[in-house]
Amino acid sequence: MADRYLSLTATAPGRFLTRRLGLPQPAALRRWSAEHPSLDGDLLHLTVGASALDLPPVLARTGLTPGSSPASASSSVAAVAAVAAVVLDATGVRDVDTLAEVHAALHPVVRSVAASGRIVLLGAPLDPEDHHQAAVQQALEGFTRSLGKEIGRGRTVNLVRLTDAAAAESTLRFLLSPKSAYVSGQLISVGAGAVTVPDDWSRPLAGRTALVTGAARGIGAAVAETLARDGARVVVLDVPAAERDARDLAARLGGGATALPLDITATDAGERIAAEVHDGLDVLIHNAGVTRDRRLVNMPAERWSSVLDVNLASVLRTTDALLAKGALRPGGRIVATASIAGLAGNAGQTNYGASKAGVAGLVRALAPRALAEHGVTVNAVAPGFIETKMTAAVPLFIREAGRRMNSLAQGGLPVDVAETTAWLAHPASGAVNGQVVRVCGQSLLGA
Ligand code: NAD
Repeated sequence: MADRYLSLTATAPGRFLTRRLGLPQPAALRRWSAEHPSLDGDLLHLTVGASALDLPPVLARTGLTPGSSPASASSSVAAVAAVAAVVLDATGVRDVDTLAEVHAALHPVVRSVAASGRIVLLGAPLDPEDHHQAAVQQALEGFTRSLGKEIGRGRTVNLVRLTDAAAAESTLRFLLSPKSAYVSGQLISVGAGAVTVPDDWSRPLAGRTALVTGAARGIGAAVAETLARDGARVVVLDVPAAERDARDLAARLGGGATALPLDITATDAGERIAAEVHDGLDVLIHNAGVTRDRRLVNMPAERWSSVLDVNLASVLRTTDALLAKGALRPGGRIVATASIAGLAGNAGQTNYGASKAGVAGLVRALAPRALAEHGVTVNAVAPGFIETKMTAAVPLFIREAGRRMNSLAQGGLPVDVAETTAWLAHPASGAVNGQVVRVCGQSLLGA
């Protein structure tokens, strides 16, 4: 269902009218296309405090032109007319005085960031031995979320905690590109895990096999398309009733894509998948999901169990079966689909919220073990309001509220979730593990 309000505010009279009425002003977001793969303009790299990161070589590979890297932020304003992105390295901030330099560095620069531009703050892991460092590094999180809520014009603000710039290259490339259009106000921790640098960054999944559940339509179909774009051979799994759509999509994707008609709640789903991908699987995307909304007082047991079975129990069962069989190759990636309803809660969705919070719990607990024992990372995406058949069925006023109640004042598109999934599935994302990343335009729901 088209967002007519977004189309209205894209016209001059519509913008004038909605501004006069004090209504939200969503900006058309700049998304990735083969013709325009990068943001246009300069990248400004600022540092406050003493940093041990070797960032310039990584930033030089983002596709953005490094702008002048001024010694002091205030001198940058005259030199930089409009920048596409700002990276502020605050890993060396250990006390409140140095924290003030974050303000000093960004205060004069924010206005220069172009529409759909990016601000990425880099922070350090919290030091449990130093509560001053922990306090000011945590302060960066509140700063990031607050700036994200006020910056407007389709611009995003995110915080990456890291210790090694090279291990964070895929993350920085993603956040500094149009692929992260609907990801804002997020904290992403990047560890020091193994990173496989692809021969070709434009086809990082070449030679790899990916399976996407619930891929016949909606977000799953966009994920399948994006992973195929990135070079993967994709297995399109969906219920037998959706076999025709799954086969049509596989034919469109090419690259050896196949359809697997299978109800993911089947107790032998893991075995069936393992048989289908007998050479091994590199990327497993748990996307299939259902809603059966009712307030708890009106919810029969069947509505509870059907949602929990598809959204959580089958994710646990198939993950366990595939890991136990060694079906996921070392360097493999599991990405599960949570939801902000699972993080923030939602009236009428005790079943759905429980299932999606369960997905986040599974990811956090399994991630370290799966990496240590199988060399496989486990992460989740948590979509907010995404324009799909699922949300088109939501009653009008709730739908409008869902669309506007985020910092970007619009719903996301399936491709936004797909791009985030593709970043987590990337061979160079081996140091990103156990993360639950919201793709929600910084929804007001939850943190
Ligand atoms: P959708 O209903 O459009 O598509 C879901 C797909 O999953 C369908 O093709 C369906 O046939 C398939 N599926 C359902 N049960 C299955 C089963 N037992 N076995 C195999 N396939 C099955 O939904 P969507 O909006 O594309 O959502 C995709 C995922 O994203 C879901 O997990 C959903 O909970 C999550 N999500 C969506 C939104 C949103 O705004 N659309 C927000 C948060 C989370």
